[in-house]
Amino acid sequence: MKRPFNFSAGPAALPEEVLQTAAAEMLDWHGSGMSVMEMSHRGAEFLSIYEKAERDLRTLLAVPAHFKILFMQGGGIGENAIVPLNISRGGVVDFVLTGGWTQKSFKEAGKYAAARVAASAEASGFTEIPDPASWQISPDAAYLHICSNETIHGIEYQQLPDLKALGADIPLVIDCSSHIASRPIDWSRVALAFAGAQKNLGPAGLTIVIVREDLIGHALPICPSAFNYELVAKNQSMYNTPPTWGIYVAGLVFDWVLRQRDGDLQGLAAVEARNIRKAEKLYAFLDASSFYNNKVAPAARSRMNVPFFLADESRNADFLAGAKARGLLQLKGHKSVGGMRASLYNAMPEAGVDALIDYLREFEKTAA
Ligand code: PMP
Repeated sequence: MKRPFNFSAGPAALPEEVLQTAAAEMLDWHGSGMSVMEMSHRGAEFLSIYEKAERDLRTLLAVPAHFKILFMQGGGIGENAIVPLNISRGGVVDFVLTGGWTQKSFKEAGKYAAARVAASAEASGFTEIPDPASWQISPDAAYLHICSNETIHGIEYQQLPDLKALGADIPLVIDCSSHIASRPIDWSRVALAFAGAQKNLGPAGLTIVIVREDLIGHALPICPSAFNYELVAKNQSMYNTPPTWGIYVAGLVFDWVLRQRDGDLQGLAAVEARNIRKAEKLYAFLDASSFYNNKVAPAARSRMNVPFFLADESRNADFLAGAKARGLLQLKGHKSVGGMRASLYNAMPEAGVDALIDYLREFEKTAA
């Protein structure tokens, strides 16, 4: 069966091979007689799944030894509260607003800490990243929060800011929900990274937190125990029952990423090279066309989420119906910005982008 190409922003397409493995192992994981969903999280079978997933993620993202990897629940929106509950100490926290997700994070953090805006791209309609040299970082901030890939507005940091070089030696927190495992993370610049799994890693319900050890152990007294990084870390993410199915599927995805090849490249480097080619192809086509447009400044364009608009927006419904008929699914833009959005996560093959471009070309002709 040839499956359609699924451009959903999340929950999103997973590698077909991963889905097939999960299906084959559904009733009986490795001769255990149990589905992964039916296993005790404390049994030897699940512990082996958990340990391999953690090890593979550490390898894949080159996570240094002084960072803990936590498998949690609550999603990116949960972390908007859980991060300040754990590391703000109730003081000042800074935000760089680049789109819908940082706006949400900023608002939520204000419940637990004195949230301030160090810079905002709102005046541009969230089409660029404010130059880090212009950021007004609070000298007393407990951390600075950015969203390294804004899923809705299609903005991505091509380089993470070096806060130390900006004269602010404070922890950088990144919400990398929508591009985790699509490119390396420079851990010399990051103190805490969080991501919901449902874009590049697996099913919804699993949240990954990767946190530098010195930030653990300072939670506010009101922080719920299940969300206290110290308790979660001390209990190997099993203070409460972890999202076992999500960890299992994410583990299959980590294994898949590590096995990818592109020419001489392997693992994350191979996946990144493919992601660069996919995004470049699509942006080049959109830029060359007068029928479609993307409004994001080229230097800030996301490889993962490509929002675009038709010159004639009255044709949006026709466009989506034609796409669906061709097996190009979930291209509708987020309701807050309208238009279209093609999400090109790791599991989207290059053939999917080629098929999308063929359709864009053909639709443009019929619209002339
Ligand atoms: N941050 C980013 C960058 C996201 O893309 C999303 C989900 N689209 C979230 C946070 C929120 O994630 P969740 O719905 O899992 O809480």
